[in-house]
Amino acid sequence: MSRDPHALSLIDGPVIETDVVIVGAGPVGLFQVFELGLLGLSAHVVDSLSAAGGQCIELYPDKPIYDIPAIPVCTGKELTDNLLAQIRPFNAQLHLGQEVTEVHAREDGRFHVATSRGTHFRAGAIVIAGGVGSFQPRRLSVPGAERFENRSIHYRVRDVKAFADQELLILGGGDSALDWTLQLVESARSVVLVHRRPEFKAAPASVAKMFQLRDEGRLDYLEGTVQEIVETDGQFKGAAIRCSDGVTRRVSADQALVFFGLHPKLGPIAEWGLELHRKNIKVDTEKFQTNIPGIFAVGDINEYPGKKKLILSGFHEAALAAFAIRAHLKPGEKVHLQYTTTSPLMHKRLGVQAPAESAEAEPARRSVAGGSVS
Ligand code: FAD
Repeated sequence: MSRDPHALSLIDGPVIETDVVIVGAGPVGLFQVFELGLLGLSAHVVDSLSAAGGQCIELYPDKPIYDIPAIPVCTGKELTDNLLAQIRPFNAQLHLGQEVTEVHAREDGRFHVATSRGTHFRAGAIVIAGGVGSFQPRRLSVPGAERFENRSIHYRVRDVKAFADQELLILGGGDSALDWTLQLVESARSVVLVHRRPEFKAAPASVAKMFQLRDEGRLDYLEGTVQEIVETDGQFKGAAIRCSDGVTRRVSADQALVFFGLHPKLGPIAEWGLELHRKNIKVDTEKFQTNIPGIFAVGDINEYPGKKKLILSGFHEAALAAFAIRAHLKPGEKVHLQYTTTSPLMHKRLGVQAPAESAEAEPARRSVAGGSVS
């Protein structure tokens, strides 16, 4: 991380002012929004993936989780959906499909945060909830592929219209490959799907539909792997496919879409001057603060004695980090622990109606650390 007072002079577009930027919209990053919101702090969340939920959505959306307190069982998707519903009152904006690439400490103690899509923030604190790192697409590893990246070889679909009336080569056998094959076949001039083995990871219904379209002559399917890129005068023209029957076939294409799955990479987080141990960020267990005051780390990405990489550990860390962030942003101001059950202030922040009877029956707040003020 650089200490660059002039960093903002390099920015053309608007800068978003916020109390906190959260790096990572996994379950812990989402719950961090909730804990900050209860303490009256605003947050913006950035994730390199195109959907919130982190590992729960990317790796096991349909698998059951049994160790979330008071939820006997829920899937990764259900947990994510519930967390998104729970943070709704706080209107935190999610900036998806962009990686946090830069963090600069400013002279005034705040931070300048920038993303790969040119979104800029000025924040009082940063919470890194980056899990096992930023998920990156697995690349096509044949010579020359990188030269065509984002021109003729793509790892995500940003604009469906860009593929209309084009000859498409689609690579992969998971849900992304099959879903895009079924969608793009409607507007493309031609589609050839290539997958390396007979078994697909995609939903069986999508695979059945793809074979039905193949039988109807609407698309082609080859079992094999890309042997080399075909180019003419520096222009992408398709690929030679080494098929499982031993024959190499040339597939002509204007564009290739590669869906080989994602793998996590610590990425730019490693360059921000944080104290790391084996790709984890070292924190204390009172505030979950890193070696840089104002930068906190929660969830799978942090490390401290006894750390267990569980969602419930991350939730606890997010609660304590929120109190520490509040103290960091408003030094000297004392903070009460307030029950969401009974505190009118919590009800106001949550946008819920106060249950009149129970509000009287219990004290609205409890002092902690000799404090007052919310
Ligand atoms: P993650 O879920 O990893 O989310 C981190 C997010 O940060 C990612 O979306 C990533 O794209 C983003 N990110 C990283 N760097 C950047 C950057 N620079 N810019 C933008 N975005 C960035 N735990 C349990 O408690 N119970 C279980 O039953 C359980 N089952 C599991 C089953 C499987 C198959 C797996 C793989 C894990 C399981 N886990 C379980 C572990 C659990 O999923 C993790 O503990 C949890 O996801 C950690 O949440 P997180 O928010 O810290 O990180």
